Amino acid sequence: MANYHPDTRLLNEYSSGTLPLAQSVCVSLHLNYCDQCRRAHQQLQQLGSALFEEMAPQQVDDSLLRTVMSRLDDEVQPLSYQSTPAADAPPPLIQRLMRGDYEDLGWEKVTSDVRMSRLRTGDIDNEFALYHIRAGASIPRHTHKGTELTLVLEGGFSDEEGHYEVGDFIMRDAEQQHSPTATRDRDCICIGVLDAPIKFTDWKYRVVNPFLKIQPS
Ligand SMILES: [Zn+2]
Repeated sequence: MANYHPDTRLLNEYSSGTLPLAQSVCVSLHLNYCDQCRRAHQQLQQLGSALFEEMAPQQVDDSLLRTVMSRLDDEVQPLSYQSTPAADAPPPLIQRLMRGDYEDLGWEKVTSDVRMSRLRTGDIDNEFALYHIRAGASIPRHTHKGTELTLVLEGGFSDEEGHYEVGDFIMRDAEQQHSPTATRDRDCICIGVLDAPIKFTDWKYRVVNPFLKIQPS
């Protein structure tokens, strides 16, 4: 059972569909581990649809009606339902991460103890990556310009503010400098979503910046 959760604002944006895609995947994965947030998400969705139904109808002008009518004449491509997954099935990327199926991904070495794999989500504003931290090792101390979301998939890690296990969801903003250390008993695999490039603050790790496509300060 997860002990660290997305805050209300994030959950609200997730439920209303306004959260960027990479961050949504991170929240969605957390919901797989957390009954409490899953229930809150369902309630927010119900609330959203109730509010939508109560909205007063808006007056529209004739041009909109003409546009709609003209589109009715357009030829419509038939939809194929054969490969459509069940409506409530998680997207393939999430299913794969939930299965722990990430060995064959393209891993880049960050330090001797840390490797990362960037995954494409189609969200160009957010970097979505898996981090593999060897048992007992640390990710170099770093800051970032925007928000950093982390979700633990395997093992656990600690930083200056707490200890995190599988399913835990951690949000850090630009001011919080931290240095996560994996637990000693096993390797840690976590997801990191960044909405601005990461910046290592220890001078000796500046050399790894090219791996992460970081502009040195
Ligand atoms: Zn939760």
